[in-house]
Amino acid sequence: MKKLFTLTALAAVTTVVTCAHGQDFPGKDKVITIVVPFAAGGPTDRVARDVAEAMRKPLGGVSIVIDNAAGAGSTIGNAKVARARNDGYTLLLTHVGMATTPVLYRKLPYNYETDFEYLGMINDVPMTLIGKPQLESSNFKDLRDWIGKNGTKVNLGNAGIGSASHLCGLLFQSEMKVEMTTVPYKGTAPAIADLLGGQIDLLCDQTTNTTSQIEAKKVKPYAVTTLKRLATPVLKDIPTLDESGMKNFQVTIWHGLYAPKGTPPAVLKTINDALKVALKDPEFIKKEEGLGAVVVTDKRIEPIEHKKFVQAEVARFGPVIKAAGVYAD
Ligand code: ASP
Repeated sequence: MKKLFTLTALAAVTTVVTCAHGQDFPGKDKVITIVVPFAAGGPTDRVARDVAEAMRKPLGGVSIVIDNAAGAGSTIGNAKVARARNDGYTLLLTHVGMATTPVLYRKLPYNYETDFEYLGMINDVPMTLIGKPQLESSNFKDLRDWIGKNGTKVNLGNAGIGSASHLCGLLFQSEMKVEMTTVPYKGTAPAIADLLGGQIDLLCDQTTNTTSQIEAKKVKPYAVTTLKRLATPVLKDIPTLDESGMKNFQVTIWHGLYAPKGTPPAVLKTINDALKVALKDPEFIKKEEGLGAVVVTDKRIEPIEHKKFVQAEVARFGPVIKAAGVYAD
């Protein structure tokens, strides 16, 4: 009995000490919200839900919910987090758009370098060029001829200016030397629904969204956007754009986790530690690999390295996007 009392008393003291250092995060009965700046059911949403599930345990079983603040190629959700309370209970999970939107938008309601704390990178994800099931073209060569004949009549979906599908579509049009009609959505979940219904013709989207549709033969897969073919069984026979005549065509995108600027360092460390545990979770890795994604194991998992990587991406995409001459206000 005496021993029990001693342990309880010690536990109480420990709690007080950790609170004093701001390390009581996440608090009991609190909820962490991860803002996803694209529609529910799409690839960014999927990564967010899977990583949230894997981070829950290392964060003491805390509830993590997803808030799909979709629209304007991710800038609405990004702005929401830039303005949110910086207490660690609101986070942002987004993709390459963190680096493309600063180049594409003349004015943004946030600064990608100074309004966020960088928590770390999650994965690298290839993309696939897919077509509606009604398309007659059975391979990339036929598709190329069909696009050549139809030009602006071809409807190419995307998830808004600055999204990965927009970036991939820009590069594809520039390689094809054909301007198609682009149709923006709030994410590629609604875009793929319209592709299945035949309302749009083509979409370039992450493998994390297209693999199951390709496996079920619901869409026509024409190419992957990596230089080498992918290892994932469902995707391994799909040719690369490079081997199909578009030399050096390569678009691999990524996802990262962020918090509003000024979130306390101890809270950021707790979240980054949990993210590192999640990225080693065999269940999470299996899900990602099955969908063609590669979970990050290199130094980009460190906040400072991820920030450097995003800055380098901004520098890399700047000239490409400027050459395409596309801007949004
Ligand atoms: N795949 C989308 C994009 O093109 C984003 C999404 O819906 O998650 O950027």
